[in-house]
Amino acid sequence: MPELPEVETIKRTLAPHLQGRTIAGVEVHHPGVIAIPDADSFARILAGKRITGLERRGKYLLFNLDDDYGLAAHLRMTGRLVLAASVDPLPPHTHIVWYLPGDLTLRWVDSRRFGRLYLARKDEVVFKTGLKELGPEPLDPAFNSATLAAICAGRRRPVKQVLLDQRLLAGIGNIYADEILFVAGLDPRRPAASLNQEEVACLRGAIQAVLEQGIANHGTSIRDYVDGSGRQGSNQDHLQVYSRTGRPCPRCSQILVRVRLGGRSTHFCPRCQV
Ligand SMILES: [Zn+2]
Repeated sequence: MPELPEVETIKRTLAPHLQGRTIAGVEVHHPGVIAIPDADSFARILAGKRITGLERRGKYLLFNLDDDYGLAAHLRMTGRLVLAASVDPLPPHTHIVWYLPGDLTLRWVDSRRFGRLYLARKDEVVFKTGLKELGPEPLDPAFNSATLAAICAGRRRPVKQVLLDQRLLAGIGNIYADEILFVAGLDPRRPAASLNQEEVACLRGAIQAVLEQGIANHGTSIRDYVDGSGRQGSNQDHLQVYSRTGRPCPRCSQILVRVRLGGRSTHFCPRCQV
C-alpha cells in the first residue's frame, strides 16, 4: 500500500502538470471507486473545474478545486494515479479518466479496486473521509519528541501498532514502520509506554530520517506503486529489514526474523532491536 513517501512522490510528480489546469471532462468506467457523490454528479461537477493545488495529508492525496470543492483520493492497496497522453491506450483496470488541456489525461488505475475517490465541498470532504481523525503529520516541523512522547504515554500496545494507527500518527504503513523501528533500534513488540525519553527522541529521529529517505528515493516499489509519471521508486533497494527474513542484519549480522503483530508481518533483528 502506498504510504506517506509514495503519496508525497505522486503529489510532487503530478503537481507541475495539474496545478492551474482546468478539467475538460471526466469519463467514469467503474463507478464503484467513487465513494461520493454518484458517478453522474462526479463527472458533472468536475467538468470545467480548475485544479488550484495539490496537497497530501497522511496517505490521502487532495486536489483543491475552484468553487471551494475538494477531491480526495486514497489509493489503498493497488491504486495508481498516472498521467498519460490522451492517445495512449488505457491500461487494464482504468476506472476513471480526467481529460486535461494539451491532450493530457490523468488515469485512476486500480486492479483490486479498494482505492476510493471523494468529491465534495472542501469542508465536507474532511467529514466524509477519515481525514478529520488523522493524527499529526510526522514531517511537520511542529512534530517533535514531546508530541511523540504524548502519543506513546499510557499506551500498552506494541510500539509498531502505535506507529501504524493513523489516528495517532498519519501516513506510516507496514514497510516504513519496520524500517523506522530498525533504525531506532527498538523491538517492535515493546509496549509504546515502556519507551524512555531517550528512546522516544531516537524514534522521532528515525521516523523523520526513514520517511525523508523514502521521499528522496521516490518511494518504495515492491508491488504496484509507481509515481504520477508511471515510474517506479528506488527505495526498495535501500530497505534494511522489511521482507528480508532469513538474511543477516545489516548492523550486527544476526539473522533477521519475522513475526505477526496485530495481523501484520513484522520484520526485525532479534539482537540489536531491544
Ligand atoms: Zn542486528
